[in-house]
Amino acid sequence: MTLTLQPHRDVVGLSDGSLLVDGQWRAASSGRSWTHQHPASGESLASFPIAEQVDVDAAVGAARKAFDDGSWPHMRAGERIRLLHRYGQLLRDNADQLRGLQAMDNGVPLSFAGVYATSVGAAADVFDHHAGWVDKLGGQTLPGYQGGEHLAMTLREPIGVVAAILPWNAPFLLFAQKLAPALAAGCTVVVKPSEFATFSVLRMVELLGEAGVPDGVVNVVTGPGEPTGEALINHPQVDKVSFTGSREIGKHIVRASAGTLKRVSLELGGKSPTIVFPDAPDVGLAAMTTMGTVTMGVSGQACVAHTRALVHRDVYDQFIAAAQGMAAAVTYGDPFDAGVLASPLINEKQLNKVLGYIDKGRAEGARLVCGGERPDGELSAGNFVRPAIFAEVDNSMTIAREEIFGPVLSVIAFDDEDEAVRLANDTEYGLGAGLYTSDVKRVFRLSRALRAGTIGVNGFQIEPHVPFGGYKQSGIGREGGQSAFESYTELKTVMLPV
Ligand code: NAD
Repeated sequence: MTLTLQPHRDVVGLSDGSLLVDGQWRAASSGRSWTHQHPASGESLASFPIAEQVDVDAAVGAARKAFDDGSWPHMRAGERIRLLHRYGQLLRDNADQLRGLQAMDNGVPLSFAGVYATSVGAAADVFDHHAGWVDKLGGQTLPGYQGGEHLAMTLREPIGVVAAILPWNAPFLLFAQKLAPALAAGCTVVVKPSEFATFSVLRMVELLGEAGVPDGVVNVVTGPGEPTGEALINHPQVDKVSFTGSREIGKHIVRASAGTLKRVSLELGGKSPTIVFPDAPDVGLAAMTTMGTVTMGVSGQACVAHTRALVHRDVYDQFIAAAQGMAAAVTYGDPFDAGVLASPLINEKQLNKVLGYIDKGRAEGARLVCGGERPDGELSAGNFVRPAIFAEVDNSMTIAREEIFGPVLSVIAFDDEDEAVRLANDTEYGLGAGLYTSDVKRVFRLSRALRAGTIGVNGFQIEPHVPFGGYKQSGIGREGGQSAFESYTELKTVMLPV
């Protein structure tokens, strides 16, 4: 298959290199590069420079200078608010082009690029939301504890230089979830896109310059985890690492940050359950929504995909039949084709990992209801796997415990509410959970009982102004809303004589 690829190869100024340091696009000092091969076709689309220590030093140095000279952290609130709104509008104005770049990166089809996590509109909304926090960066005034001789005043100040390290599955939203609060708070940033989603992020950064963000405030280094990411997370001049990616690299970043006690926020993986009771308003819809999170758009390569369906025995067969219908509706191919609904897996390594889990599911005794095979014909050149549903899964099986990051649903039966809660919480992760029931008291009971950061009742959505993040090994901290904004600040106390 040859991709349609009308759009956008020239927009990112690749001829000048794709590192941005102090407002200048440039090549890496080493001259080394890697080639991005499209996951749907295997086509080689572009080569990007690999930033090494010396390039990272330059990018962090530029961010440090832009922070320390004070003009960005102390920019007038009104000016910063207007700038962030202007950027949100620029994203919307360039949405068609950005969607094309995302399709070139990770193969998310244009047909799905209006859906929250992979949409440009959501990223723009996140910038608008955080623009609203700029003039609310307040503290408290407290009375003296010992008597009336002094007051205590608290101030929130920007944390400093932030390293923003991104994954590839939702480049617009995840860029926005880090950059919007960081810039709103007055931080400066070095961004490292994933080596599998570089086009989208370079254009997002280029548009920051068009919105009027001064040189040096946002810098970019491209490259893989080693050497580029490593140089960033170990850099003594970086004050905070804001990371979205796998649990393993998240743990590694915590260890690396110990050297200079950097602040760290982590958005990691999940093994999110969805619980379906017989009194669900619509069991079929619950099944389709759940299956949708593991198939449509990114083919289950979503941190918060509901990959464990815990289904009451009375509606188990009904649930599986409806999920199977959804699986059959998924279409693959050229992401620029309007009829295509789901992406390939991002690379061959991920493809083999997912196929390995499907073999393991069978070997451990789960029943493969449908899918799990690779399509043939022209699709065989891409990293496609047909959506798999496993029934009769036990929560101790590997497919129920490990994050697969692919189109695989495990369906587990339960008999009563206590068992459902026990199974839902029996995981090392705690990112999301779904709950399908018409019983309001049960909603309250289970919302309290489930150990997960975001719970969807009779549906699932995320919005720019609400906190999003994980319990347990799904991460540290929250993105979205006030808590995200505050995580890019330090709290200072000033004792004032009166
Ligand atoms: P990954 O951990 O392989 O890579 C993420 C980023 O870290 C990439 O930019 C990569 O180059 C960089 N990196 C890799 N090694 C590094 C190192 N040693 N030092 C510094 N940086 C390094 O993850 P991925 O495959 O890009 O993304 C998939 C993972 O991300 C899944 O586990 C998924 O659940 C998680 N994710 C979480 C959320 C969330 O909000 N919780 C959102 C999207 C993805």
